[in-house]
Amino acid sequence: MATQNLFLLPGDGIGTEIMAEVQKLIDWLNANGKTDFATDTGLVGGCAYDKHGAAISEEDMAKALKADAVIFGAVGGPKWDNVPYEVRPEAGLLRLRKDLGLFANLRPAICYPALADASSLKRELVEGLDILIVRELTGGVYFGEPKEITDLGNGQKRAVDTQVYETYEIDRIARVAFDLAGTRSKKVHMADKKNVMKSGVLWSEVVASVAKDFPAIKYEHILADNAAMQLVRNPKQFDVMVTDNLFGDILSDAAAMLTGSLGMLPSASLGAPDAATGKRKALYEPVHGSAPDIAGKGIANPIAMIASFAMALRYSFNMIELADKLEAAIAGVLADGLRTGDIAQDGKKTVGTEEMGAAILAKL
Ligand code: ATP
Ligand code: MG
Repeated sequence: MATQNLFLLPGDGIGTEIMAEVQKLIDWLNANGKTDFATDTGLVGGCAYDKHGAAISEEDMAKALKADAVIFGAVGGPKWDNVPYEVRPEAGLLRLRKDLGLFANLRPAICYPALADASSLKRELVEGLDILIVRELTGGVYFGEPKEITDLGNGQKRAVDTQVYETYEIDRIARVAFDLAGTRSKKVHMADKKNVMKSGVLWSEVVASVAKDFPAIKYEHILADNAAMQLVRNPKQFDVMVTDNLFGDILSDAAAMLTGSLGMLPSASLGAPDAATGKRKALYEPVHGSAPDIAGKGIANPIAMIASFAMALRYSFNMIELADKLEAAIAGVLADGLRTGDIAQDGKKTVGTEEMGAAILAKL
């Protein structure tokens, strides 16, 4: 087995606490011959600013670029609220996304049966829910030029944002979605607003043409507003949903809350396949932030972080069986009734970060 390089960036707040549980998993997997991971750990966010005066050092950036996968915790906290904008903790993550070319953001929304009552919807609507939202992450209205506010001089201002997409950007994200659908329930929805937006017209054209290359996958176009409605009406009709940066931001947050808890949700961000090796640059991180309110108390839920590591096993290393087992171990401890504070029902006993991590490892 060739050694594979993981670069761990725990970050700030609960980031270090939840990453420690991933490190224990890696150590166990290596010790038992299941994997051959070499790990290196760097600083990102506030801790990097304290040490280097930058949200990530050049040395750590270089390591991230060389790694087979980056595992990222969380950044930020009140301590760094007033640091200069260019070196604020979040700038570290933005730099990583940009320099690694991570254009595809994968956000699964999985509803574990044991937690279905925590959803905003009725249990029967969400139990077994397994949606994968594929969000375009480097284009669209977040970056299009012009982007400005002009003072019109008469007490009025004009704000402009510009949505720009080119064929290649839509084509490559669509291919990620169709590839992934092939490993799942073989259904892709693409959400846009082609009825009012030219960029939507192009998305529709390009994705319909990519769909022709994947005859085994069922493809449906859906208007983004209808997608929002269907997500809260009957979410289990969806498998993979691919969409642009803005709609992906909104629809993935809506899908996330169907599952009940922020502390449970992993994500992956992927770049283009390398021309020589076919390997994609990739960064895996929990959806939640650094949770300063509970940092240092040992009570953070490590599941989103561990599930992000499971995504790394699946998508960067093609260790499908191991990823399945790790996800089953998470579902298993939840079915056993183990709960951290964020997912506990009133009055029920809770466990801390280490106990939850150890239980998942034992289950594995
Ligand atoms: P960011 O701006 O980085 O997204 P945020 O303030 O929006 O940060 P979080 O840091 O995710 O969001 O925290 C939101 C709430 O959820 C907090 O009360 C926090 O304690 C809780 N929370 C977030 N992640 C976890 C976790 N893994 N375990 C337990 N509670 C969590
Ligand atoms: Mg937030």
